[in-house]
Amino acid sequence: MSLADLHSLSDRPRPKLGKPRPSILVKAEAGRKAKRAAAKLRADVRARDGHQCQCCHIPVFVSATNPLQRAQVHHITYRSQGGPDVQKNLITVCGECHAKIHAHEIEVRGTHAASVRFMRKAKP
Ligand SMILES: [Zn+2]
Repeated sequence: MSLADLHSLSDRPRPKLGKPRPSILVKAEAGRKAKRAAAKLRADVRARDGHQCQCCHIPVFVSATNPLQRAQVHHITYRSQGGPDVQKNLITVCGECHAKIHAHEIEVRGTHAASVRFMRKAKP
């Protein structure tokens, strides 16, 4: 008895045959590819910025043991606000400046990496 014969005996609807889903291995490879592309983009941004925090100008390193000196890449227009993962929307900062930016102690003015300015806010 074939599969079609078995389905004809059942009251249950036959499964629809559509486009096959990508296997978990295909999805995993796509995920690895995306991670590699994101890592390359961050490395390109750090190289463009001379491996220096663009706010306080200290040298920064990816593997710095002190998290405040670790190189981080900041989205000028936040991802949550639709900021794209492209070089002109990314800028290298140290961990300390990055934390202050997100704590609104430093304001980032400008819309792309070439024209960005950092303004320290006075404490009330
Ligand atoms: Zn800094």
